[in-house]
Amino acid sequence: MIFFKRLKYTAIAFFIILSFRLVAEPTRVLTFDDGKAHYIIEVIKHITWPNEGQISHFNIIILGNNRGLLKALNNKTSTLIRGKGISVVQLEKFNKADAKVDVVIVSRNKSALIPEVIENNKNVLIINDGPADKEYLMVGLSIVRKNIKLALNRENLIKQGFKISNVMLDFAGTKADLREQLKDRESTLHKTRNEVEIKEKQLNELNTSLTKNKEKLQTIQSNLIKQSKLLDNAQTQLLSLKSNKAAVILELTSKKNSLLTQQKLLTEKAQEHKQQQNKLKQLNINIKQAENKLAKQVTELEQQNNVIALKEQKITVQRTLLYITATLALVILVLTFVVLRVNRIRKQANKELAHLNKQLYELATTDDMTKLFNRRHFLELAQRALNQVQRTKDLGAVLMLDIDHFKKINDTHGHAAGDLALIDIANILKDNLRNYDIVGRIGGEEFAMFLPNSDIETATQIAERIREKIANSSTSFQQISIKLTISIGLTAILENDDGIDSIINRADKALYQAKNSGRNKVSLV
Ligand code: GH3
Ligand code: MG
Ligand code: MG
Repeated sequence: MIFFKRLKYTAIAFFIILSFRLVAEPTRVLTFDDGKAHYIIEVIKHITWPNEGQISHFNIIILGNNRGLLKALNNKTSTLIRGKGISVVQLEKFNKADAKVDVVIVSRNKSALIPEVIENNKNVLIINDGPADKEYLMVGLSIVRKNIKLALNRENLIKQGFKISNVMLDFAGTKADLREQLKDRESTLHKTRNEVEIKEKQLNELNTSLTKNKEKLQTIQSNLIKQSKLLDNAQTQLLSLKSNKAAVILELTSKKNSLLTQQKLLTEKAQEHKQQQNKLKQLNINIKQAENKLAKQVTELEQQNNVIALKEQKITVQRTLLYITATLALVILVLTFVVLRVNRIRKQANKELAHLNKQLYELATTDDMTKLFNRRHFLELAQRALNQVQRTKDLGAVLMLDIDHFKKINDTHGHAAGDLALIDIANILKDNLRNYDIVGRIGGEEFAMFLPNSDIETATQIAERIREKIANSSTSFQQISIKLTISIGLTAILENDDGIDSIINRADKALYQAKNSGRNKVSLV
């Protein structure tokens, strides 16, 4: 308790000295407003706001006219409180727009505005200048008998969420505040004392064990020193031994190495020797094998040579045969070609010959103008037919035909008209022939007919029909119609007739009679 009383007095003395110092500044005369401003700043320093984290800058409003305090506070604006700056304004009225206010200093005549300020800003610290309404008072600042008095309403501050430092309470709290605080501190101190006692006991125990351990350690240390000395000696001995051992080992190793090297060399040489021997053996075997192979190859080569010689002979024979065959084939080919060519030429020639023969035959047998058989061929065919008739003892007749006054036609109309008339008459003769009848032009304007299998009546009918047709026909030449008649001599083939010529003669006689009896007639002998 005495300790805390002393602390209180010391704090008060500290503030008195501080105030004194501030007042007694040699360069500037401090006013009470300076003192108030100082206290206000100190209050802000020792009080923590419920919204401390959101405050970046402490806004201070002086409600009411207090220029002196405003000036004094403006002198303090360079102060930083927990890293935050200060700004001060003086207002006659509290504006809602100024709701962001951290400290309001209320003048005596403006205490009626306090409820409005609190309503608009719950985290505001209200400092009244002079006596104020206890209901809202948080910090009271007044001058009593030329002394500045600072009073805290701990209850209101705590209610609004502010926290007050102990130092502040020491010099600005009420007796009751201090009493409670002291009670708290006493209990804390009591707890701390108990803890200290327990820790002291533990410390004593630790000290005792430490002393014991120290003693033990000292014993161990002395033992260790002794042992380390022994160890040093042993180490020295060991080192000398080690150096000796190393030298011996070195020597031994070098000797061993040289021995090993020699042994190695010997082994290598022995191996080399063995390998060379083996190689030699292998070489001998190889040589023998090679010799055998060579002998074999020589034999094979000889055999192959023989085979080759035989094959060459064969090839020569085959080649000769091939040449012969090829030559023969070529000859055959050429011959075939020649034969084929000759054959084709021969065929062509034969064809041409046949054609020529045909032409020749026609020329030899046919009258070129009338296309009737000529005299010679008619006589041949008539003779053959006569032979046949006589052999089969058939009937037959021969007709001799001669155009009447033909000379006149030529003379009157020209030779060409006569030719045309000859062709017309030949055609009439052809039209009236049977298959087996033979007709020929045997003179200039004379024709003959051989009618096999025809008795004299049939022959007469045929002759009459021909004569009539010719008499009734005409030849047109250059728009002139030429009329002609013909005289026919007829004779039957007799059994004793000895040739065609005698029969033709008989027919000729009949023709002569027809001419003499007035022409355009058929006469029979
Ligand atoms: P006939 O009635 O007595 O027989 O009197 P014809 O004039 O016929 O007899 P002739 O013997 O006097 O005259 C035959 C004529 O026929 C003479 C000849 O010029 C003519 N002749 C003969 N061959 C040909 C021929 O190939 N062409 C022509 N156009 N006339 C021919
Ligand atoms: Mg005549
Ligand atoms: Mg005539």
